[in-house]
Amino acid sequence: MTERNPHAGKPFTDDDTAIAAALEDMSIPALLCSLVHITGDVSWIRGDLRPQVSVLNDYQGSMGEGDMAEARRRALPAIAAYRDGGCVLPPPPSPEVVHEMMSWLACAPVPDDVVPMFAEDLHLDGADAGAITWGDELSARARDDAHVVVIGCGESGLLAGIRLAQAGIPFTIVEKNAGPGGTWWDNRYPGARVDIGSHFYCYSFEPADHWTEYFSQHPELRAYFEQVMRKYGIEEHCRFETEVLSAAFDDAAGRWAVTVRGIDGATEVLDARAVISAVGALNQPKLPDIQGAETFAGPLFHSSRWDATVDYRDKRFALIGAGATGFQIAPTIADDVERLTVFQRTAQWVFPNANYHRAVPSGERWAMRHLPFYGRWFRFLTFYPGAGLTIEGSRIDPDYDDGGMAISEQNRIRREILAKLMADQLGDDAELRARVMPDYPATAKRMLQDNGSWLACLKKDNVELVRTPIDRIVEDGVVTEDGTFYPADVICYATGFRHNDYLWPMAITGRDGTVLRDQWGDEPTAYLGITIPNFPNFFCLYGPGTNLAHGGSLIFQSECQVHYVMSALHELLTSGRRTLEPRAEVHDDYSERYQDEIGQMVWAHKSVKHSHYKNPEGKVFTLSPWPIPTYWRWTKDFQPNDYEWD
Ligand code: NAP
Repeated sequence: MTERNPHAGKPFTDDDTAIAAALEDMSIPALLCSLVHITGDVSWIRGDLRPQVSVLNDYQGSMGEGDMAEARRRALPAIAAYRDGGCVLPPPPSPEVVHEMMSWLACAPVPDDVVPMFAEDLHLDGADAGAITWGDELSARARDDAHVVVIGCGESGLLAGIRLAQAGIPFTIVEKNAGPGGTWWDNRYPGARVDIGSHFYCYSFEPADHWTEYFSQHPELRAYFEQVMRKYGIEEHCRFETEVLSAAFDDAAGRWAVTVRGIDGATEVLDARAVISAVGALNQPKLPDIQGAETFAGPLFHSSRWDATVDYRDKRFALIGAGATGFQIAPTIADDVERLTVFQRTAQWVFPNANYHRAVPSGERWAMRHLPFYGRWFRFLTFYPGAGLTIEGSRIDPDYDDGGMAISEQNRIRREILAKLMADQLGDDAELRARVMPDYPATAKRMLQDNGSWLACLKKDNVELVRTPIDRIVEDGVVTEDGTFYPADVICYATGFRHNDYLWPMAITGRDGTVLRDQWGDEPTAYLGITIPNFPNFFCLYGPGTNLAHGGSLIFQSECQVHYVMSALHELLTSGRRTLEPRAEVHDDYSERYQDEIGQMVWAHKSVKHSHYKNPEGKVFTLSPWPIPTYWRWTKDFQPNDYEWD
């Protein structure tokens, strides 16, 4: 018997009443696509019922209530017939129909050149498109000699482990934490949740139909990575509570010596043919240098080192910093503390997202489990509008000048829309409106999800938003530059991370003793964000210039990068050569194109004074300026000629 396509859903026997109830919870656009699979009839997407617009986090495509009700009415007998027929599927839709379904969901023709990326991500054939199938091509000798050290067991390190295991390459994942998950292991502050839809923020080959919320909270994410680790047998390759201190390339041997320190303080050197850095980019706390901090009598901690032993209930809580993290903490704790003072240096733009705190209703979860390919098309609904296909809207119009409040006419309109959404929530509170309204172009910093909870929190009687800069911290509170004293029993720094200091504090030494930190200075670069001249057989995941501010999911980005790294390793290990490193001119040309491109984008705009995307000189080396399909294409296609081989 052939195995059932895992995305075809589990057969079911639910009665019509149960199905009708479930239909009330479903995304109608995803449902109608599923019905094409269920019935083999493409007319479901060629008729009068269709989504109107494709907007991030709108799973109904702005369809009217009447159309949605009609869709449910038509769907019920079709689903019942499928059930009664034993949940047997007709032949799958042709590639042309799949393309048509994409365009129908996108509410616009999906260009031919980006279809392969979405088609691969959909996994409609049930296979894992990224699975490594070349294990047999390696000789036992090449394999035995190929030990790879992966630094970090967050989402990217775990993924690298899965692929290395499939390739039959020996590897060790060294992780400083006691378990997998990286950022989701570290960040346990109240309210920590992902802000990319969960059905897209997961491995394409390990979709989760079990998410309980559209934007999962940290325990559920941690559990997901733990479960994936176990399912793929990666745990036995992991050394937890072990930190990489340094990695040095031995020119004569053509190998890496990776020095690690265990929880007992003992150090050890691991030998490696290749090193994959999967350390993430947002995990080394950036602590503000505030005078008097050491005199504070109460608990003081960084958000990513949340002290769970501190009972903040009924205390006076000072939250210093209000970016993506502060935005999540403040509304979550506001009702529990006696007083919450939020110190915010720069106001933040917010982006409406009604689903941000919503539980996935039971009918939607039923559809994910049982309706063929429903979950895959639901994923597409999140992926497509966030694929960076509209990245041109982020480009600075050099002829546009309105005093730094917008980068183009399109951006000015966007500003007006977002400003109005905020103003509408604040009513006639002009004073608070002035304090929360950003004075730089919309989208120039990380956009924050807005379901009303942030501004509602700021309006509470026990909450105060302070925009005056901090002068000092004293024993029992915080004093701002105007001399105002804000009493505090607990202080949390939600001040972000050392984004620009990639791989810090590890000491990485490459060929001829080249020290990575010296080579980079404040301008970290890597070819495709992955490989670095002078650092043979060394690969970065989530390296310089690969963070995403224009959409996407870092997990998808990691899948692109791991595919590329595995292609490079395949070439290395089957060619019998010792090392590869990017040719200097290839790297330099890429870096020049990168800087030229990112420098024209909104995130580099001079009006943004403080941004973790920028280096101390105000240049950006952190973000990707490329549409996701462009990066997917480049990383899909490893070019040996881009490399020097030894
Ligand atoms: P952040 O966005 O860099 O925000 C840090 C906050 O601290 C800002 O308000 C910043 O002000 C302030 N700050 C920093 N140094 C300061 C100083 N010396 N004095 C006063 N204020 C200071 O950091 P984050 O909120 O931790 O977020 C970092 C990134 O992590 C995000 O961009 C996102 O990529 C990721 N993240 C994601 C989620 C999620 O929802 N999935 C949640 C949390 C974090 P300025 O704005 O003026 O610099």
